[in-house]
Amino acid sequence: MERKIETKCIHLLEDEEEYIHYGAISYPIYQTATYAHLGVGKSSGYDYSRLQNPTKEHLEKVVASLENGTDAFAFSSGMAAISLLMELFKPGDHIIAESDLYGGSIRLFHNVSAKNGITFSHIDCFKENIGDFITPATKAIYIETPTNPMMNVTDISAVAEITRKYNLILIVDNTFMSPYFQNPLDLGADIVVHSGTKYLSGHNDTLAGFLVTKRADIAEKFAFLIKTTGAGLSPFDSWLVLRGIKTLGVRMEKSQENAIKIAHWLKKQKVVKKVIYTGLPEHSGYEIMKKQARGFGGMLTFQLESKEFALSILKKVRMIKFAESLGGVETLITYPTTQTHADVPQEIREKNGITESTLRLSVGIENADDLIYELEKVFEETERELSGRKKS
Ligand SMILES: *Cc1c(COP(=O)(O)O)cnc(C)c1O
Repeated sequence: MERKIETKCIHLLEDEEEYIHYGAISYPIYQTATYAHLGVGKSSGYDYSRLQNPTKEHLEKVVASLENGTDAFAFSSGMAAISLLMELFKPGDHIIAESDLYGGSIRLFHNVSAKNGITFSHIDCFKENIGDFITPATKAIYIETPTNPMMNVTDISAVAEITRKYNLILIVDNTFMSPYFQNPLDLGADIVVHSGTKYLSGHNDTLAGFLVTKRADIAEKFAFLIKTTGAGLSPFDSWLVLRGIKTLGVRMEKSQENAIKIAHWLKKQKVVKKVIYTGLPEHSGYEIMKKQARGFGGMLTFQLESKEFALSILKKVRMIKFAESLGGVETLITYPTTQTHADVPQEIREKNGITESTLRLSVGIENADDLIYELEKVFEETERELSGRKKS
């Protein structure tokens, strides 16, 4: 029987075949840079930690198993993973990318990849026809689904049909759903990207990134590039991510349960103009999500009636922290305009619907009643203050 994903977060099948590491239940941290050779021309398989490290390798096997890939590669951050990924392309290559991508990816594409001669078309993969943008130079399609922060959903299988037809590489940043809820390789993607900083590690205490594939030609290129450029994850951070992944299942379920409750509460607030959560049946991507994912996740975006209201919420929250990042046990609230998407040109930001009254919530695993109670207080205080100001 194929094991279920919660179990795969905790147990790696191949480790059960022999008695290793004195039976240690927690995988040991091999805090070493180099390895002694058994003799001239004889290697244990481990020569230098930029190339191979047992703790990092163990983590890579776990992540490959969760994404149903053959190979995973662990990096010092999500951006380190995406930077290395861009080394697959050469000057003159063209990439079609979703327009509402993570801000850091857009900054990389426009300021670093562009300088190296790679060109990009940013499109709304849900509304626009991808085929119209393919040229003879097009090499890849890069998507996130749901997107950050507007939660636009793309049908991965439908895009995979196009990439297969034109022989393009389909890259999916799966950070928002985590492998617990969505597996793009099963839907036809060639490469999955993760910021392991988010749900995989899950505790806002380490940075990490991953590339996962089941294509041997791509895995071989990644292995060479990592060895050559050196952005691999350290042994200790690998261990932290391994520890985080063990509870991925329960964390994802609880974040989602809380997110659904908060989305319904927000919908009832007069000052909230719009709640964007893929788990609401009125969301334009709801049916696609039901088809391609096993859940809706713990991320939601909402729009207030005014910029003042949004800024006041950020100032007043106490337990909920006003901070960048997402996917941890703590609930965080962000302001995409000046934080994650500050480097995205204003016209792209506005075209995507990110306004100055847009807030994004990464719902943690606290008790939902406590989260709603805090939001209630913050909303009440703000309403009182703003109406007082209007009168005076
Ligand atoms: C955070 C994030 C990244 C970048 O990852 P880092 O670990 O912060 O470098 C990439 N994609 C998405 C969707 C993210 O949320």
